[in-house]
Order: sequence, then structure tokens, then C-alpha cells
Amino acid sequence: MSFDKRIYNFAPGPATLPEEVLKAAGQDILLWQGLGAGVMEVSHRSSAFMNCYQDALQNIIDLMKIPSNYKVLFLQGGGIGQNAAIPMNLMGLAKSGPQADFIVSGVWTQKSVAEASKYGLARIAATSKEQQFHCVPDRATWDLSQDSAYVHICANETVGGVEFAQTPDVGVIPLVADISSNIMSREINVSRYGVLFAGAQKNIAPAGLTIVIVREDLIGHAASITPTIWDWKIQAANDSMINTPTTFAIYMAGEVFKWLKKQGGISAIEKINQQKADVIYGVLDQSSLYEARVHRDSRSRMNVTFYLRDETLNEAFLAQASQAGMIGLKGHKSVGGMRASLYNAMPLAGAQCLAELMREFERRA
Ligand SMILES: *Cc1c(COP(=O)(O)O)cnc(C)c1O
Repeated sequence: MSFDKRIYNFAPGPATLPEEVLKAAGQDILLWQGLGAGVMEVSHRSSAFMNCYQDALQNIIDLMKIPSNYKVLFLQGGGIGQNAAIPMNLMGLAKSGPQADFIVSGVWTQKSVAEASKYGLARIAATSKEQQFHCVPDRATWDLSQDSAYVHICANETVGGVEFAQTPDVGVIPLVADISSNIMSREINVSRYGVLFAGAQKNIAPAGLTIVIVREDLIGHAASITPTIWDWKIQAANDSMINTPTTFAIYMAGEVFKWLKKQGGISAIEKINQQKADVIYGVLDQSSLYEARVHRDSRSRMNVTFYLRDETLNEAFLAQASQAGMIGLKGHKSVGGMRASLYNAMPLAGAQCLAELMREFERRA
């Protein structure tokens, strides 16, 4: 298979980025801002880069309506890195020894529990394991501890395709949310959270950048073993530049933020995201060939997972999708099946193209 043009890329991450941003970046890689050098080749302390950094920061604050008592950090190490950094920075807040609560809704929160267990007690306050992680654990079943420093959730489980429909209420305990795969895909009330974190490679930028949004009163409690690069207090005091930041990914994030503003901001992209998801779930709900296993109230708008009831058809389905110019649809190896990732940069036409292929494949099956 060879393609001489861009196709619809449904990969879960790294993932598709807006075409107009990529085109402009192509120029800026070679020559940026009249400097005679490209964006990747100049100092992170140069005024050109510092302006780019400050613009990106202001644009994420504007887009997500981040209140002034929050700090936005541009770090490295990914979501997995923050799975360690968060307990190191926060577990010390627990009254009777390092401890936090976890709401386990799939692969990512399982990883978070395993990592946090290195630093303290990672309590499983609720899990949907018995439901094969096909839903978020019902809030009524959560057994939260007053002795925990925080409650950790994954707002969107990328592998299972399970998303919280709303921000859960956890009272005064800080709510920590992994929003790696749905950041900026929908409006959220940041003030309901203590910490939000995301690897940028799903909805924002190339891999390498990790965005951490943290309420100021949760900064400054890091355990003494915390690596300097992940100590939120040190990074907040140093414009996230205690080490060389991932300059190109920050530049890209800034360009994507500008693009998102041009689309009308998060409320506008949220409507399109809902339409895209509705198009695919609409096919699934009318089909006898495909099966959507995630419970309706936990369906992800970003990662639509589904199965062909006859799994011997999987390869043929993927091959026909590829011929029709659609890639990245194979489900995660741990769960099998298919997954269509519908991040912000995927146009509605991409979802419609996939829906058409799915109907056509069913007609011919
Ligand atoms: C992709 C993803 C991560 C990413 O972690 P990395 O360390 O950046 O690879 C974390 N959490 C969720 C929910 C993800 O989808």
C-alpha cells in the first residue's frame, strides 16, 4: 500500500494533528521568525522561544478557562511519568502516612495504581473490573477514605474507550485526573480538580510534552526523593525550565492552541466531537455485525471501541479500511477488536468516511 496524500489516521497516539498546523510547522522547522535557523535549533532562553512559550501558556489558560490559582507546567516524562510524580508530590498531604484513592476503570488506572504503590498506599476505592472495564465504576460504589491525600481518576480510558460523562463529586479531597486522551476535547470546570495532567500526543502535539495543571495549594508538598524535574514547586518557580524543555513540542502545542481558538474554542470543537462519536456509535447501534461493549453512559467520544462479532473478519475489515484511506483502527493488543480515535484534529468527514465503510462492509459481509 502506498499513499501520496494524507489519509484519515485514527491512531490512538501519537495521533493526527491539524494539517494547516503541520504545513506551517514544515516552514518553521527550516526558518523561524527571521532568525536564519529553525524552531528546533534555537535556545529555550531566546526571546523568540520565550514569547512562543508565554503565548502557548496564555492560550491554554484562555481555552480551558484555567483560574488564576492554578499553575500550568510543561514537563516531560509523559502520563506515566506523572503517575510517579503525583504520589511523590501529593501523598505527603495524607494525615496518617502516604496514601491515595484510585478509581480503577481500565488499563491506565491499573498502571497508575501500580506506580503509586511504590510511594505509599494506593487504595482501590472502586473498580469496574467485574464489568470487564466496560464502564466507569458507579459513583455510589466508591469507598473513599478520609485519610487519602487525593482521589485519582482517568477521565478517558484510551484502551477501553471508557469516559466519565461528568466530573465526579469527591467533596473536599483533591481530585486528580488523567486527561491525556480527552484534554481540550470538551469543556470542563477546572476548579473542580486539584490536578489535571496529560501527555500531549493525543490531542495537542507530538509526543514529549506533558501538561500538568495544578492548584497552587497542592504545590510545595513533594517528598524529598522527588526528582528535581518532577518537583512541581521547582518547575513552577522556573517556568518549567529547570531542565531543557521539549521546545518543539511546546511550539507545536502553541500552534494547535491557536488553531483551536480559530475553530471557535473548546465549546465549538466539543460539538463536532459529539457529532463524530454519534456517527460511529450510530452505525454500531444499528448493526448485527459490530458490537459496542462499553455501557452507553460511559462511552468515550475520543476512542470508540468496537468488535466484529465474527473476529475472523478483522483482517479483512482493516485491509478494506486501509484501501479506503483509513489507518490506525486496530484495537489495543490487550483487548483486541477495533478502536477509532476521534481526536480534535480528526474532521467530521473522517468519521463519516469510516461510518460509510463500516456500513458497506456489513452489507457485503
Ligand atoms: C496515552 C496515555 C498516557 C500516556 O502516557 P505516556 O507516558 O505519555 O506514554 C497516559 N494516560 C492515558 C489515559 C493515556 O491515554
